[in-house]
Amino acid sequence: MISTTSIPDYSDVLAAAARIKGAAHETPVLTSTTADALSGANLFFKAENFQRIGAFKFRGAYNAIAALSDDERARGVVTYSSGNHAQAVALASRLLGCAATIIMPSDAPAVKMAATKGYGGTIRTYDRYKENREAIGTALAEEKGMTLIPPYDHPQVIAGQGTAAKELLETVGTLDMLIAPLGGGGLLGGTALAAKAINPSISVIGVEPEAGNDGQQSFRSGKIVEIAVPKTLADGAMTTHLGQHNFPIISDLVDDIVTVGDRDLVRAMAFFLERLKIVVEPTGCLAAAAALFGIAPVKGKRVGIIISGGNIDITRIGELIASQA
Ligand SMILES: *Cc1c(COP(=O)(O)O)cnc(C)c1O
Repeated sequence: MISTTSIPDYSDVLAAAARIKGAAHETPVLTSTTADALSGANLFFKAENFQRIGAFKFRGAYNAIAALSDDERARGVVTYSSGNHAQAVALASRLLGCAATIIMPSDAPAVKMAATKGYGGTIRTYDRYKENREAIGTALAEEKGMTLIPPYDHPQVIAGQGTAAKELLETVGTLDMLIAPLGGGGLLGGTALAAKAINPSISVIGVEPEAGNDGQQSFRSGKIVEIAVPKTLADGAMTTHLGQHNFPIISDLVDDIVTVGDRDLVRAMAFFLERLKIVVEPTGCLAAAAALFGIAPVKGKRVGIIISGGNIDITRIGELIASQA
């Protein structure tokens, strides 16, 4: 078993796949001739908006909590999250018989807060522009003997997130490129581990919101760059820095990091609704927008795209699309 300070490798992704089997959904892979025509590529969308809790985060959370000892699970877990990881920890905890405390920003989308409570999580709110969620989480963990399950900077979380890319490659076979969104780097780290182990010549691209390109800056400079909380529609990628456990993987295995503006996220969201008839949240559109609108070099290639999540208030969808019309 890996320690909580080590960098995970592909064997940890394989162990994660065994742990989450039967608990997580094997999500579908969607294709669209319209998307292929628009991008000039062959696109394979791994639809994690159909994952339990509506995002890939269930994979990492379930893996991390399942890997704890019975004793650790009995003392409960604590986490901080802008939404999807919160729901993931709440549901995984309930399934594994463990109490969960979730530290959430007070301005998190209502649909995410309600869902977290619905899964049985205890919520503690904080001001994302003034308070430090890591500090609050660490203090609670020390006080109550709980285990902290961070959203991206944890070897078992990274390993769990890598199972989506493993399933995608097993479903569609060889790809030239795999594109994944990038927030704190758990998903991209796990994706790169799985993709390069299965297919060493694949190119792995991360996509960040334009307003928060700390990952791109870190990738280019070779050290973790920290930025102020970015203002972007991609609320699942409003992170300020990559993690100690995923940055080495991203540095080593990822081929490039590109950025997408909010306008293109809304265009991609509308495209998914109209053409594929699916609801994708703005953060979930990052990778697809890069492929559809000429930002990532996909032309003529077989390309995997991770659609990372679909949690958004339905009234918000209308507002966003009307605002861009
Ligand atoms: C968390 C999240 C991301 C970013 O994942 P990281 O592991 O933080 O990089 C992307 N999309 C959605 C829908 C998310 O919930």
